[in-house]
Amino acid sequence: MTDVFTPDKRSSVMRRVKGKDTSPELKVRRLLTRMGLRYRLHRKDLPGKPDIVMPGRRLAIFVHGCFWHGHDCPRGARTPKANRPYWEAKIGGNRERDIAHRAALQASGWRVLTLWECELKDEERLERSVADLLSLPLDRSYAARSSPRSARSIRSTVSATP
Ligand SMILES: [Zn+2]
Repeated sequence: MTDVFTPDKRSSVMRRVKGKDTSPELKVRRLLTRMGLRYRLHRKDLPGKPDIVMPGRRLAIFVHGCFWHGHDCPRGARTPKANRPYWEAKIGGNRERDIAHRAALQASGWRVLTLWECELKDEERLERSVADLLSLPLDRSYAARSSPRSARSIRSTVSATP
């Protein structure tokens, strides 16, 4: 059978399928490192193997691809036309597992932050949302640049529980 993807495209697809060390996750990790935060990766002993964990802060972070985890956004709404029932079942299953993992983590006292691929484009916003959650002091010039409007949209898109 002929591969529908070029070799380059194929390897990027396979990277995404593998689910680890995807570029959205690397982006978040780079940001956390820049913020001076220390973290651990893929803790297998925790529900859902959170992508990034800060044990001291009891914070688990999932970095979700919009398609695979069925985000409520244009990318997440795009189901392939072929094999639609298959994809709907698969993505629906992922969503259910995400909800269960989140609940299990929260039940054992973890705070859970879910970051969506589509929200990572605005790095400033991402940094603010992480800082807000961890109650870190923000750089003053940085805070001044951000409008109240963007602060509101952060609160509405970042889902975290104390
Ligand atoms: Zn999305």
